[in-house]
Amino acid sequence: MSSPARHPVSPSPLLLPPRAPRCARSVAVIGAGAAGLVAARELRREGFSVVVFERLGTVGGTWVYDADVESDPMGTDPSRAVVHSSLYESLRTNLPRECMGFLGYPLVSRDGEGRDPRRFPGHREVLRYLEDFARDFDLYGLVRLGTEVMEVEMAEGGGWAVRTRQVTGESDAGCTSEVYDGVVVCNGHYTEPRIAEIPGVEAWPGKQIHSHTYRVPLTFLDQVVVVIGNGLSAFDISRDILRFAKEVHIASRSRGSGAPVKQPGYDNLWLHTMISSAEEDGTVVFLDGSSLHVDVILHCTGYKYHFPFLKTNGHVIVDDNRVHPLYKHIFPPSLAPSLSFIGIPWKVYLKYILFTFSLYLLSTQLHSLFFVFFSLYVTLLLE
Ligand SMILES: Cc1cc2nc3c(=O)[nH]c(=O)nc-3n(C[C@H](O)[C@H](O)[C@H](O)COP(=O)(O)OP(=O)(O)OC[C@H]3O[C@@H](n4cnc5c(N)ncnc54)[C@H](O)[C@@H]3O)c2cc1C
Repeated sequence: MSSPARHPVSPSPLLLPPRAPRCARSVAVIGAGAAGLVAARELRREGFSVVVFERLGTVGGTWVYDADVESDPMGTDPSRAVVHSSLYESLRTNLPRECMGFLGYPLVSRDGEGRDPRRFPGHREVLRYLEDFARDFDLYGLVRLGTEVMEVEMAEGGGWAVRTRQVTGESDAGCTSEVYDGVVVCNGHYTEPRIAEIPGVEAWPGKQIHSHTYRVPLTFLDQVVVVIGNGLSAFDISRDILRFAKEVHIASRSRGSGAPVKQPGYDNLWLHTMISSAEEDGTVVFLDGSSLHVDVILHCTGYKYHFPFLKTNGHVIVDDNRVHPLYKHIFPPSLAPSLSFIGIPWKVYLKYILFTFSLYLLSTQLHSLFFVFFSLYVTLLLE
């Protein structure tokens, strides 16, 4: 096993030709959330020298709840200090625990103080599970906590130059550059908000926030709130806030027409068509022509893929919120197998099993032994 070589980062040549696959030995994993942890376990098991870079002070990624929110409630100001997690205080899993474990390491309920035996446990139970996983597989030693990856680019002599910095409280110190044979990107994709476009919103006097910066319902006390979205978070957060808010109105693109419908079982929850405009007098108008005076618009409109550190000279592109070209949502063909992504698909309900399968495929690729049968097996399971 080779250790990563320390080199200065060289300027990237323009449009490098695709390189032949090489047998990677040292692998940098970016992120110590669920994907990064299982990547570390699988790659070390296959004999690679693994370093996991994690900018937080602990493992768990999304599941590390942070009561603090970003300075920009919409999460779009590029100069803001980023808060990684989008969890809100009351969040429970939207999948039963039986569907959320890694292969071979189920999310079973465990005894102990602070454990949550419910089938749909609160978010702290998932964090405890990931911490248990890291401890049981002795992964902490592979993780460089408080270390942010600033840049990843093709190194001149082959491999990937990975530039990092220490994130220590307010100040940043200690930039380092190292070259790795392979890089596995596991930086998550629930941090960079997508925002709905609303005609007239610039002059609308109310407050807008994205669900990324939502934590507790009391902030909506006696407010009239429009929640935009039709996903799990829109409905979950609506139910969370309607205990305190005066009225909650869900604006959904999938409701194409028709007057607002009061939701059965609730006194202050309505379902609407999408917003058509926001007006200077504080009114929000919906596509069906109905309107309301609104205090807050809450965007539960999802997230964008974001790889600010990655320089691939155009070999990997993110456009229209799609990462491409990626073979099996993992490998950019011209850079495979030395660069890969784990956890890209959004609409997967067995994410942790997907992570594990992706890693089986990745470690076989990194050995340059591509098992066709295994690939077909994964394809049949996942597509
Ligand atoms: C509100 C919400 C609810 C959810 N509920 C469920 C659920 O009930 N069930 C379920 O299966 N899934 C759920 N998910 C999906 C959840 O994101 C996945 O379960 C999983 O945690 C994703 O793991 P990940 O490792 O891909 O990303 P993350 O958990 O986001 O981890 C990425 C890690 O990369 C680190 N990182 C990012 N950039 C850098 C950098 N430049 N340098 C160093 N480190 C970096 C981050 O700090 C983070 O620790 C939910 C997501 C959200 C937002």
